[in-house]
Amino acid sequence: MTSESENVLRRRTAYDEFRKKQLEQKELDAQLWAVKENLRAAKKEYGKTEDDLKLLQSVGQIIGEVLRPLDDKRMIVKVGCGSRYVVGCCSKMDKENLTSGTRVVLDMSTLTIMRALPHEVHPMVHNMLHEDPGNISYSAVGGLSDQIRELRESIELPLMNPELFLRVGIKPPKGVLLYGPPGTGKTLLARAIARNVDANFLKIVSSAIIDKYIGESARLIREMFNYARDHQPCIIFMDEIDAIGGRRFSEGTSADREIQRTLMELLNQLDGFDHIGKVKVIMATNRPDVLDPALLRPGRLDRKIEIPLPNELSRIEILKIHAAGIAKHGDIDYEAVVKLAEGFNGADLRNVCTEAGISAVRAERDYVIHVDFMKAVRKLNEAKKLESSVHYAADIGKE
Ligand code: ATP
Repeated sequence: MTSESENVLRRRTAYDEFRKKQLEQKELDAQLWAVKENLRAAKKEYGKTEDDLKLLQSVGQIIGEVLRPLDDKRMIVKVGCGSRYVVGCCSKMDKENLTSGTRVVLDMSTLTIMRALPHEVHPMVHNMLHEDPGNISYSAVGGLSDQIRELRESIELPLMNPELFLRVGIKPPKGVLLYGPPGTGKTLLARAIARNVDANFLKIVSSAIIDKYIGESARLIREMFNYARDHQPCIIFMDEIDAIGGRRFSEGTSADREIQRTLMELLNQLDGFDHIGKVKVIMATNRPDVLDPALLRPGRLDRKIEIPLPNELSRIEILKIHAAGIAKHGDIDYEAVVKLAEGFNGADLRNVCTEAGISAVRAERDYVIHVDFMKAVRKLNEAKKLESSVHYAADIGKE
């Protein structure tokens, strides 16, 4: 009996102890939960502060350019409005990279350098680079074999084998001017060379770079050449160069002066890169007569290649190139077609093929026959005659 009551007592004590521990455990759990809650709130607060700090940093920072380091802590920077400051640099930054010309971000109030920016590429230069020259081979250019050879000698050879020129001791041409009537394949040639030379290709239509703000067009030219120099080998193709390369004159409006400034920058850039460098310039125009002589002098545009209206043989070649993709039936007498196409340029001959195709569609055929070509060429001949008589009447009217 005694031992039984002792057993009961021991079990009760053990149970009491278990209950006590259970309560303690509950209390600890509650404390742990409260700590976790606090931690979560603190983390949230921390994240918000970080965001606020980032926002604070990103608001209104100034862009500047390092002019030169003064010592290992301070450097001279120039900001957009032209003022110069001696500033420090944030401790996390690698000062080695801050050479003169580096674009940097400055804190609004202390003007401390916060970080370096990548080299600026003007959005227009960026667009120029991403313009696809297309998949055009030399065989897609008809009747211009001499011009192709000359262009390859002046552009492709110095880019691919500069040592040939070094060995002979001559300076390869820096640039080439393609001139001739509209629609004769100047742009086509430039595209063909860009595709065949493994080089970057920048295409610019000169009239598009004239900006309404003074100095902006010249800056674009500068940046374009800088970009080309940084991404050698590179071919710059400037179409309709007469828009900025016209002869300079003393009087003129402020717009004329802006165009002249742009031309001066272009001349300056052409002088600025060396002959053996892997930047080549191709310019194209329909009006070589209005160009400034300074642009044409050797050392700038060394080679002038005329792209004339095609003769009969060339016209056959061009017509065959454009007719190659068309479904045809029976013999096509190309000679007879081009005999009627006197004075046609490459673009007109492409148009003849399109017209012939339309005439086949009209006749509910899915192939083109010789008669379609003849009809097309006669129709376009009439249209051209009408066009030239309208021009003639307009010229008489002006006089
Ligand atoms: P513009 O001076 O008006 O800019 P352009 O001389 O640069 O004219 P392109 O744009 O090269 O002329 O030619 C227009 C189109 O005419 C080309 O896309 C091409 O289809 C056709 N073409 C012109 N010349 C030729 C050619 N020699 N061989 C094949 N196609 C040609």
